Amino acid sequence: MSLITKKIHELSTMLSSKAISSVELTQAYLDNIKQDDNHTTPINAYITVTPELALEGAKQADTRIQNNTHTSLTGIPLGVKDLINVKDIPMTCASKILTGYISSYDATVIQKLIRNEGMPHLGKLNLDEFAMGSSNETSYYGIVRNPHHREFSPGGSSGGSAAAIAANLAPITLGTDTGGSIRQPAAFCGCVGFKPTYGRVSRYGATAFASSLDQIGPISKCVTDASMIYQAMAGYDPKDSTTSSNTVETITNSKDIKGLKIGLPKEFFVDSLDSEIKEQILNTAKELEKQGAILSEVSIPFMKHAPAIYYIIAPAEASANLERFDGIRYGNREVADILSETYIKSRTEGFGPEVKRRIILGTFILSSESYDSYFKKAQQVRSVLIEEYNNVFNSVDLLLGPTTPTPAFKINEKINDPVSMYLNDIFTISANLVGTPAISIPIGMSQSQLPIGLQLTARCFNETTLFKGAHAVESLFL
Ligand code: GLN
Repeated sequence: MSLITKKIHELSTMLSSKAISSVELTQAYLDNIKQDDNHTTPINAYITVTPELALEGAKQADTRIQNNTHTSLTGIPLGVKDLINVKDIPMTCASKILTGYISSYDATVIQKLIRNEGMPHLGKLNLDEFAMGSSNETSYYGIVRNPHHREFSPGGSSGGSAAAIAANLAPITLGTDTGGSIRQPAAFCGCVGFKPTYGRVSRYGATAFASSLDQIGPISKCVTDASMIYQAMAGYDPKDSTTSSNTVETITNSKDIKGLKIGLPKEFFVDSLDSEIKEQILNTAKELEKQGAILSEVSIPFMKHAPAIYYIIAPAEASANLERFDGIRYGNREVADILSETYIKSRTEGFGPEVKRRIILGTFILSSESYDSYFKKAQQVRSVLIEEYNNVFNSVDLLLGPTTPTPAFKINEKINDPVSMYLNDIFTISANLVGTPAISIPIGMSQSQLPIGLQLTARCFNETTLFKGAHAVESLFL
Protein backbone atom coordinates (compact mmCIF):
# COMPACT_ATOMS: atom_id res chain seq x y z
CA MET A 1 0.00 0.00 0.00
CA SER A 2 1.32 3.41 -0.87
CA LEU A 3 2.62 5.55 1.96
CA ILE A 4 0.19 8.40 1.42
CA THR A 5 -2.90 6.22 1.85
CA LYS A 6 -1.90 5.22 5.37
CA LYS A 7 -3.47 6.33 8.62
CA ILE A 8 -1.46 8.51 10.97
CA HIS A 9 -1.26 5.90 13.72
CA GLU A 10 0.34 3.54 11.18
CA LEU A 11 2.69 6.26 9.96
CA SER A 12 3.61 7.03 13.55
CA THR A 13 4.82 3.46 14.10
CA MET A 14 6.75 3.51 10.82
CA LEU A 15 8.41 6.79 11.74
CA SER A 16 9.46 5.78 15.22
CA SER A 17 10.80 2.42 14.02
CA LYS A 18 12.70 4.40 11.35
CA ALA A 19 11.13 2.35 8.56
CA ILE A 20 10.50 5.71 6.89
CA SER A 21 11.73 9.25 7.47
CA SER A 22 9.54 12.29 7.86
CA VAL A 23 11.32 13.95 4.93
CA GLU A 24 10.42 10.99 2.70
CA LEU A 25 6.83 11.02 3.93
CA THR A 26 6.40 14.78 3.60
CA GLN A 27 7.88 14.72 0.10
CA ALA A 28 5.38 12.02 -0.90
CA TYR A 29 2.47 14.31 0.03
CA LEU A 30 4.07 17.30 -1.68
CA ASP A 31 4.48 15.19 -4.83
CA ASN A 32 0.86 14.13 -4.74
CA ILE A 33 -0.28 17.74 -4.23
CA LYS A 34 1.74 18.73 -7.31
CA GLN A 35 0.34 15.85 -9.30
CA ASP A 36 -3.21 16.85 -8.48
CA ASP A 37 -2.50 20.45 -9.51
CA ASN A 38 -1.68 19.09 -12.96
CA HIS A 39 -4.96 17.16 -13.20
CA THR A 40 -7.45 18.48 -15.79
CA THR A 41 -9.91 19.25 -12.98
CA PRO A 42 -7.77 19.71 -9.85
CA ILE A 43 -9.33 19.22 -6.43
CA ASN A 44 -7.99 22.63 -5.40
CA ALA A 45 -7.78 21.63 -1.75
CA TYR A 46 -4.95 24.04 -0.93
CA ILE A 47 -4.86 27.82 -1.13
CA THR A 48 -1.18 27.96 -0.12
CA VAL A 49 1.29 25.07 -0.17
CA THR A 50 4.45 25.56 1.93
CA PRO A 51 6.99 22.98 0.63
CA GLU A 52 10.09 24.60 2.16
CA LEU A 53 8.49 24.95 5.56
CA ALA A 54 7.16 21.38 5.36
CA LEU A 55 10.55 19.90 4.50
CA GLU A 56 12.31 22.01 7.12
CA GLY A 57 9.80 20.77 9.72
CA ALA A 58 10.32 17.20 8.49
CA LYS A 59 14.10 17.48 8.87
CA GLN A 60 13.72 18.74 12.42
CA ALA A 61 11.27 15.91 13.14
CA ASP A 62 13.75 13.34 11.85
CA THR A 63 16.40 14.75 14.19
CA ARG A 64 13.99 14.45 17.11
CA ILE A 65 13.24 10.85 16.16
CA GLN A 66 16.99 10.11 15.94
CA ASN A 67 17.49 11.66 19.38
CA ASN A 68 14.47 9.88 20.81
CA THR A 69 12.81 13.15 21.87
CA HIS A 70 9.75 12.68 19.67
CA THR A 71 6.06 12.11 20.38
CA SER A 72 3.62 9.92 18.46
CA LEU A 73 2.79 12.87 16.17
CA THR A 74 6.34 14.04 15.42
CA GLY A 75 7.05 13.94 11.70
CA ILE A 76 3.44 13.50 10.55
CA PRO A 77 2.56 16.32 8.12
CA LEU A 78 -0.45 18.51 8.85
CA GLY A 79 -2.77 20.54 6.60
CA VAL A 80 -4.45 23.57 8.17
CA LYS A 81 -7.73 25.27 7.25
CA ASP A 82 -6.82 28.72 6.01
CA LEU A 83 -8.53 30.64 8.78
CA ILE A 84 -6.11 29.45 11.45
CA ASN A 85 -3.01 31.61 11.91
CA VAL A 86 0.40 30.08 11.21
CA LYS A 87 3.15 32.65 11.87
CA ASP A 88 4.79 34.18 8.79
CA ILE A 89 2.46 32.36 6.36
CA PRO A 90 -0.28 34.13 4.33
CA MET A 91 -3.78 33.66 5.71
CA THR A 92 -6.69 34.41 3.38
CA CYS A 93 -9.83 32.98 5.05
CA ALA A 94 -10.64 32.37 1.34
CA SER A 95 -11.55 36.05 1.06
CA LYS A 96 -10.29 38.76 -1.26
CA ILE A 97 -10.28 41.18 1.68
CA LEU A 98 -7.28 39.43 3.25
CA THR A 99 -5.13 39.58 0.12
CA GLY A 100 -1.55 40.15 1.21
CA TYR A 101 -2.14 39.41 4.89
CA ILE A 102 0.61 37.41 6.58
CA SER A 103 -0.06 35.95 10.02
CA SER A 104 1.98 37.64 12.71
CA TYR A 105 1.46 34.90 15.30
CA ASP A 106 0.62 31.23 15.81
CA ALA A 107 -2.77 29.95 16.86
CA THR A 108 -2.57 27.84 20.03
CA VAL A 109 -3.34 24.66 18.08
CA ILE A 110 -0.43 25.46 15.76
CA GLN A 111 1.86 26.10 18.72
CA LYS A 112 0.87 22.70 20.11
CA LEU A 113 0.86 20.58 16.97
CA ILE A 114 3.52 22.15 14.77
CA ARG A 115 5.92 23.69 17.28
CA ASN A 116 5.55 21.29 20.24
CA GLU A 117 4.66 17.97 18.61
CA GLY A 118 6.79 18.65 15.52
CA MET A 119 4.23 18.08 12.76
CA PRO A 120 5.52 19.49 9.42
CA HIS A 121 3.19 22.16 7.94
CA LEU A 122 2.05 21.18 4.43
CA GLY A 123 -0.03 24.25 3.72
CA LYS A 124 -3.28 26.17 4.14
CA LEU A 125 -6.48 24.53 3.00
CA ASN A 126 -9.35 25.97 1.00
CA LEU A 127 -12.70 26.78 2.62
CA ASP A 128 -15.87 28.74 2.10
CA GLU A 129 -15.15 32.45 2.55
CA PHE A 130 -14.77 33.08 6.32
CA ALA A 131 -16.21 29.57 6.83
CA MET A 132 -19.65 30.66 5.64
CA GLY A 133 -21.11 27.97 3.45
CA SER A 134 -21.74 24.25 3.07
CA SER A 135 -20.22 23.58 -0.34
CA ASN A 136 -16.85 25.35 -0.62
CA GLU A 137 -18.23 27.35 -3.51
CA THR A 138 -18.01 30.73 -1.78
CA SER A 139 -14.18 30.71 -1.71
CA TYR A 140 -12.45 33.57 -3.54
CA TYR A 141 -9.79 30.96 -4.41
CA GLY A 142 -12.14 28.76 -6.39
CA ILE A 143 -14.32 25.75 -5.73
CA VAL A 144 -13.00 22.54 -4.21
CA ARG A 145 -13.99 19.25 -5.84
CA ASN A 146 -15.06 16.04 -4.16
CA PRO A 147 -12.35 13.40 -4.73
CA HIS A 148 -14.98 10.65 -4.99
CA HIS A 149 -16.61 12.40 -7.93
CA ARG A 150 -15.11 15.63 -9.17
CA GLU A 151 -18.44 17.08 -10.36
CA PHE A 152 -19.72 17.00 -6.79
CA SER A 153 -19.16 19.35 -3.89
CA PRO A 154 -16.86 18.19 -1.04
CA GLY A 155 -19.15 20.04 1.38
CA GLY A 156 -18.10 23.01 3.46
CA SER A 157 -16.92 25.06 4.94
CA SER A 158 -13.87 22.84 5.66
CA GLY A 159 -14.11 21.38 2.14
CA GLY A 160 -10.37 21.62 1.48
CA SER A 161 -9.61 19.88 4.80
CA ALA A 162 -11.91 16.95 3.96
CA ALA A 163 -11.00 16.68 0.26
CA ALA A 164 -7.29 16.65 1.16
CA ILE A 165 -7.81 13.57 3.35
CA ALA A 166 -9.93 11.74 0.76
CA ALA A 167 -7.43 12.47 -2.04
CA ASN A 168 -4.31 11.68 0.06
CA LEU A 169 -3.08 15.26 -0.11
CA ALA A 170 -2.48 15.22 3.68
CA PRO A 171 -2.67 12.48 6.30
CA ILE A 172 -4.54 14.66 8.81
CA THR A 173 -6.03 18.15 8.67
CA LEU A 174 -7.58 20.78 10.90
CA GLY A 175 -11.00 22.26 10.24
CA THR A 176 -13.41 24.44 12.16
CA ASP A 177 -17.04 23.71 12.91
CA THR A 178 -19.56 26.48 13.63
CA GLY A 179 -22.66 24.71 12.35
CA GLY A 180 -21.29 21.50 10.89
CA SER A 181 -18.27 22.56 8.86
CA ILE A 182 -16.10 19.66 10.00
CA ARG A 183 -18.75 16.91 10.06
CA GLN A 184 -20.64 17.71 6.86
CA PRO A 185 -17.59 17.79 4.54
CA ALA A 186 -16.20 14.72 6.31
CA ALA A 187 -19.48 12.92 5.54
CA PHE A 188 -19.45 14.06 1.89
CA CYS A 189 -15.84 12.95 1.40
CA GLY A 190 -15.96 9.67 3.36
CA CYS A 191 -13.70 10.79 6.24
CA VAL A 192 -13.98 11.02 10.01
CA GLY A 193 -14.80 14.55 11.19
CA PHE A 194 -14.84 15.45 14.87
CA LYS A 195 -16.15 18.57 16.62
CA PRO A 196 -14.98 18.65 20.25
CA THR A 197 -17.07 20.03 23.13
CA TYR A 198 -17.31 23.83 23.09
CA GLY A 199 -14.40 25.07 25.20
CA ARG A 200 -12.33 21.91 24.91
CA VAL A 201 -9.88 23.18 22.27
CA SER A 202 -8.50 26.71 22.23
CA ARG A 203 -9.68 28.96 19.40
CA TYR A 204 -6.92 31.51 20.00
CA GLY A 205 -5.64 32.37 16.54
CA ALA A 206 -8.61 30.96 14.64
CA THR A 207 -10.48 33.72 12.83
CA ALA A 208 -13.78 34.15 14.67
CA PHE A 209 -17.00 33.54 12.76
CA ALA A 210 -19.62 33.01 15.49
CA SER A 211 -17.86 32.98 18.84
CA SER A 212 -20.52 31.10 20.81
CA LEU A 213 -20.45 28.25 18.26
CA ASP A 214 -16.94 27.91 16.72
CA GLN A 215 -14.71 24.93 17.51
CA ILE A 216 -11.49 23.61 15.95
CA GLY A 217 -11.27 19.89 15.25
CA PRO A 218 -9.63 17.27 13.03
CA ILE A 219 -10.62 15.55 9.80
CA SER A 220 -8.94 12.17 9.47
CA LYS A 221 -8.98 8.76 7.82
CA CYS A 222 -10.10 6.94 10.98
CA VAL A 223 -11.35 7.36 14.53
CA THR A 224 -8.01 6.55 16.21
CA ASP A 225 -6.29 9.28 14.18
CA ALA A 226 -8.93 11.82 15.26
CA SER A 227 -8.50 10.94 18.94
CA MET A 228 -4.69 11.08 18.70
CA ILE A 229 -4.62 14.63 17.40
CA TYR A 230 -7.53 15.74 19.57
CA GLN A 231 -5.65 14.82 22.73
CA ALA A 232 -2.64 16.81 21.62
CA MET A 233 -4.80 19.91 20.96
CA ALA A 234 -7.26 19.87 23.84
CA GLY A 235 -7.01 21.66 27.15
CA TYR A 236 -7.16 24.96 28.96
CA ASP A 237 -5.51 27.94 27.30
CA PRO A 238 -5.00 31.21 29.20
CA LYS A 239 -5.23 32.97 25.81
CA ASP A 240 -8.82 31.77 25.24
CA SER A 241 -11.15 32.53 28.14
CA THR A 242 -13.80 30.15 26.75
CA THR A 243 -11.56 27.10 27.24
CA SER A 244 -12.37 24.75 30.09
CA SER A 245 -9.95 23.80 32.83
CA ASN A 246 -11.47 20.28 33.11
CA THR A 247 -8.72 17.71 32.69
CA VAL A 248 -8.50 16.16 29.24
CA GLU A 249 -9.35 12.50 29.56
CA THR A 250 -7.23 9.80 27.94
CA ILE A 251 -9.11 8.29 25.05
CA THR A 252 -8.60 4.57 24.55
CA ASN A 253 -9.37 2.49 21.47
CA SER A 254 -12.12 0.63 23.34
CA LYS A 255 -15.18 -0.25 21.30
CA ASP A 256 -16.96 -2.00 24.13
CA ILE A 257 -20.49 -0.65 23.95
CA LYS A 258 -22.20 -3.30 26.08
CA GLY A 259 -24.92 -1.59 28.06
CA LEU A 260 -24.36 1.77 26.37
CA LYS A 261 -27.68 3.56 25.87
CA ILE A 262 -28.04 5.00 22.40
CA GLY A 263 -30.95 7.30 21.57
CA LEU A 264 -32.26 7.76 18.04
CA PRO A 265 -33.92 11.19 17.97
CA LYS A 266 -37.02 10.93 15.84
CA GLU A 267 -36.36 14.47 14.55
CA PHE A 268 -33.40 13.00 12.62
CA PHE A 269 -35.54 10.52 10.73
CA VAL A 270 -37.79 12.95 8.91
CA ASP A 271 -39.21 12.89 5.36
CA SER A 272 -36.41 15.07 4.01
CA LEU A 273 -33.85 12.37 4.94
CA ASP A 274 -32.63 10.46 1.89
CA SER A 275 -34.05 6.91 2.01
CA GLU A 276 -30.69 5.19 1.37
CA ILE A 277 -29.06 7.14 4.20
CA LYS A 278 -31.95 6.32 6.50
CA GLU A 279 -31.69 2.62 5.74
CA GLN A 280 -27.93 2.46 6.23
CA ILE A 281 -28.08 4.44 9.50
CA LEU A 282 -30.81 2.20 10.92
CA ASN A 283 -28.98 -0.96 9.83
CA THR A 284 -25.84 0.27 11.56
CA ALA A 285 -27.83 1.00 14.72
CA LYS A 286 -29.18 -2.57 14.66
CA GLU A 287 -25.63 -3.92 14.38
CA LEU A 288 -24.66 -1.89 17.45
CA GLU A 289 -27.62 -3.40 19.28
CA LYS A 290 -26.24 -6.88 18.50
CA GLN A 291 -23.04 -5.81 20.23
CA GLY A 292 -24.90 -4.96 23.41
CA ALA A 293 -25.96 -1.33 22.95
CA ILE A 294 -29.44 -0.50 24.20
CA LEU A 295 -31.35 1.43 21.55
CA SER A 296 -34.35 3.66 22.14
CA GLU A 297 -36.26 6.29 20.25
CA VAL A 298 -36.00 9.72 21.85
CA SER A 299 -37.42 13.11 20.96
CA ILE A 300 -35.85 16.56 20.95
CA PRO A 301 -38.76 18.61 19.62
CA PHE A 302 -36.89 21.93 19.39
CA MET A 303 -34.27 20.40 17.09
CA LYS A 304 -36.55 21.40 14.24
CA HIS A 305 -35.95 25.05 15.16
CA ALA A 306 -32.15 24.65 15.10
CA PRO A 307 -31.54 26.11 11.61
CA ALA A 308 -33.78 29.09 12.41
CA ILE A 309 -31.94 29.78 15.69
CA TYR A 310 -28.55 29.28 14.05
CA TYR A 311 -29.23 31.57 11.10
CA ILE A 312 -30.08 34.36 13.54
CA ILE A 313 -27.29 33.88 16.08
CA ALA A 314 -24.46 33.02 13.64
CA PRO A 315 -24.93 36.05 11.34
CA ALA A 316 -25.40 38.36 14.35
CA GLU A 317 -22.10 37.22 15.87
CA ALA A 318 -20.42 37.23 12.45
CA SER A 319 -21.46 40.81 11.73
CA ALA A 320 -19.72 41.90 14.94
CA ASN A 321 -16.64 39.68 14.42
CA LEU A 322 -16.10 40.77 10.82
CA GLU A 323 -16.21 44.47 11.73
CA ARG A 324 -12.41 44.31 12.15
CA PHE A 325 -11.91 43.79 8.40
CA ASP A 326 -12.11 47.45 7.50
CA GLY A 327 -9.34 47.82 4.93
CA ILE A 328 -7.11 49.52 7.51
CA ARG A 329 -5.89 46.83 9.85
CA TYR A 330 -5.58 43.73 7.69
CA GLY A 331 -5.09 42.80 4.05
CA ASN A 332 -6.49 44.65 1.09
CA ARG A 333 -7.25 48.41 1.16
CA GLU A 334 -9.29 50.24 -1.47
CA VAL A 335 -8.20 53.82 -0.92
CA ALA A 336 -10.80 56.62 -1.19
CA ASP A 337 -10.73 60.36 -0.45
CA ILE A 338 -12.20 60.07 3.03
CA LEU A 339 -11.82 57.41 5.70
CA SER A 340 -15.44 56.25 5.79
CA GLU A 341 -15.38 55.77 2.00
CA THR A 342 -12.21 53.68 2.37
CA TYR A 343 -14.04 51.38 4.78
CA ILE A 344 -17.02 51.09 2.46
CA LYS A 345 -14.97 50.56 -0.68
CA SER A 346 -12.63 48.01 0.94
CA ARG A 347 -15.52 45.98 2.34
CA THR A 348 -17.60 46.25 -0.84
CA GLU A 349 -14.70 45.06 -2.98
CA GLY A 350 -13.29 42.63 -0.45
CA PHE A 351 -16.24 40.53 0.72
CA GLY A 352 -18.13 38.05 -1.46
CA PRO A 353 -21.95 37.83 -1.71
CA GLU A 354 -22.52 35.20 1.03
CA VAL A 355 -20.41 37.09 3.58
CA LYS A 356 -22.22 40.34 2.71
CA ARG A 357 -25.58 38.61 3.07
CA ARG A 358 -24.64 37.46 6.58
CA ILE A 359 -23.23 40.85 7.63
CA ILE A 360 -26.37 42.66 6.46
CA LEU A 361 -28.63 40.09 8.11
CA GLY A 362 -26.62 40.13 11.33
CA THR A 363 -26.53 43.93 11.52
CA PHE A 364 -30.30 44.03 11.04
CA ILE A 365 -30.82 41.38 13.74
CA LEU A 366 -28.71 43.33 16.23
CA SER A 367 -30.38 46.70 15.47
CA SER A 368 -32.42 48.16 18.33
CA GLU A 369 -35.74 47.60 16.50
CA SER A 370 -35.18 43.89 15.89
CA TYR A 371 -32.91 42.81 18.77
CA ASP A 372 -35.75 41.65 21.05
CA SER A 373 -37.86 39.95 18.43
CA TYR A 374 -34.97 38.12 16.72
CA PHE A 375 -31.73 37.89 18.69
CA LYS A 376 -33.20 37.67 22.18
CA LYS A 377 -35.91 35.28 21.00
CA ALA A 378 -33.34 33.04 19.30
CA GLN A 379 -31.29 32.93 22.51
CA GLN A 380 -34.40 31.96 24.46
CA VAL A 381 -35.25 29.17 22.03
CA ARG A 382 -31.59 28.06 22.16
CA SER A 383 -31.92 27.74 25.96
CA VAL A 384 -34.93 25.47 25.53
CA LEU A 385 -32.98 23.31 23.07
CA ILE A 386 -30.12 23.04 25.59
CA GLU A 387 -32.60 21.97 28.27
CA GLU A 388 -34.07 19.34 25.96
CA TYR A 389 -30.60 17.95 25.26
CA ASN A 390 -29.80 17.85 28.99
CA ASN A 391 -33.03 15.95 29.61
CA VAL A 392 -32.38 13.42 26.87
CA PHE A 393 -28.84 12.86 28.14
CA ASN A 394 -30.33 11.92 31.51
CA SER A 395 -31.62 8.76 29.88
CA VAL A 396 -29.13 7.97 27.08
CA ASP A 397 -25.32 8.10 26.65
CA LEU A 398 -25.17 8.84 22.95
CA LEU A 399 -27.40 10.15 20.18
CA LEU A 400 -27.19 8.51 16.78
CA GLY A 401 -28.40 9.82 13.45
CA PRO A 402 -27.31 10.91 9.99
CA THR A 403 -24.75 13.70 9.48
CA THR A 404 -26.46 15.09 6.39
CA PRO A 405 -29.91 14.76 4.81
CA THR A 406 -28.44 13.67 1.44
CA PRO A 407 -25.08 12.49 0.08
CA ALA A 408 -22.92 15.14 -1.64
CA PHE A 409 -24.75 17.39 -4.09
CA LYS A 410 -23.41 18.62 -7.41
CA ILE A 411 -21.28 21.76 -7.75
CA ASN A 412 -23.65 24.65 -8.71
CA GLU A 413 -26.72 22.71 -7.55
CA LYS A 414 -27.52 24.83 -4.49
CA ILE A 415 -25.33 27.91 -4.65
CA ASN A 416 -28.13 30.16 -5.93
CA ASP A 417 -30.62 28.92 -3.36
CA PRO A 418 -29.29 29.96 0.07
CA VAL A 419 -32.20 28.47 2.02
CA SER A 420 -31.73 25.02 0.52
CA MET A 421 -27.98 25.36 1.21
CA TYR A 422 -28.70 26.36 4.83
CA LEU A 423 -31.00 23.36 5.33
CA ASN A 424 -28.12 21.04 4.53
CA ASP A 425 -26.89 21.71 8.07
CA ILE A 426 -30.15 20.65 9.68
CA PHE A 427 -28.63 17.67 11.54
CA THR A 428 -25.28 19.21 12.51
CA ILE A 429 -26.25 22.64 13.87
CA SER A 430 -27.77 21.51 17.19
CA ALA A 431 -24.42 20.23 18.52
CA ASN A 432 -22.98 23.73 18.06
CA LEU A 433 -25.97 25.46 19.64
CA VAL A 434 -25.79 23.13 22.66
CA GLY A 435 -21.98 22.80 22.76
CA THR A 436 -21.86 18.99 22.71
CA PRO A 437 -19.10 16.97 21.05
CA ALA A 438 -20.13 15.20 17.83
CA ILE A 439 -18.42 13.03 15.25
CA SER A 440 -19.19 11.89 11.72
CA ILE A 441 -18.03 8.41 10.75
CA PRO A 442 -18.20 7.01 7.18
CA ILE A 443 -20.54 4.00 6.94
CA GLY A 444 -20.36 3.14 3.26
CA MET A 445 -21.49 4.44 -0.11
CA SER A 446 -24.76 5.34 -1.76
CA GLN A 447 -25.74 3.59 -4.99
CA SER A 448 -24.33 6.58 -6.83
CA GLN A 449 -20.96 5.85 -5.17
CA LEU A 450 -20.99 8.82 -2.83
CA PRO A 451 -20.04 8.44 0.86
CA ILE A 452 -22.58 8.37 3.69
CA GLY A 453 -21.81 9.66 7.20
CA LEU A 454 -23.28 8.62 10.55
CA GLN A 455 -23.25 11.15 13.37
CA LEU A 456 -22.84 10.44 17.08
CA THR A 457 -23.33 13.08 19.76
CA ALA A 458 -22.40 12.83 23.44
CA ARG A 459 -22.86 14.91 26.58
CA CYS A 460 -20.56 17.91 26.91
CA PHE A 461 -17.04 16.83 27.95
CA ASN A 462 -17.86 13.18 27.40
CA GLU A 463 -15.50 12.61 24.49
CA THR A 464 -14.55 9.22 25.98
CA THR A 465 -18.02 7.79 25.37
CA LEU A 466 -18.24 9.48 21.99
CA PHE A 467 -15.01 7.82 20.82
CA LYS A 468 -16.07 4.45 22.21
CA GLY A 469 -19.24 4.61 20.12
CA ALA A 470 -17.30 5.88 17.11
CA HIS A 471 -14.83 2.98 17.34
CA ALA A 472 -17.75 0.54 17.54
CA VAL A 473 -19.38 2.05 14.43
CA GLU A 474 -16.11 2.12 12.51
CA SER A 475 -15.26 -1.49 13.34
CA LEU A 476 -18.44 -2.62 11.56
CA PHE A 477 -16.99 -1.38 8.29
CA LEU A 478 -13.37 -2.49 8.54
N1 GLN B 1 -22.73 25.71 6.74
C1 GLN B 1 -22.88 26.49 7.92
C2 GLN B 1 -22.84 27.97 7.56
O1 GLN B 1 -22.82 28.27 6.44
C3 GLN B 1 -21.83 26.14 8.90
C4 GLN B 1 -20.52 26.74 8.63
C5 GLN B 1 -19.50 26.36 9.63
O2 GLN B 1 -19.68 25.42 10.42
N2 GLN B 1 -18.42 27.11 9.61
O3 GLN B 1 -22.83 28.82 8.39
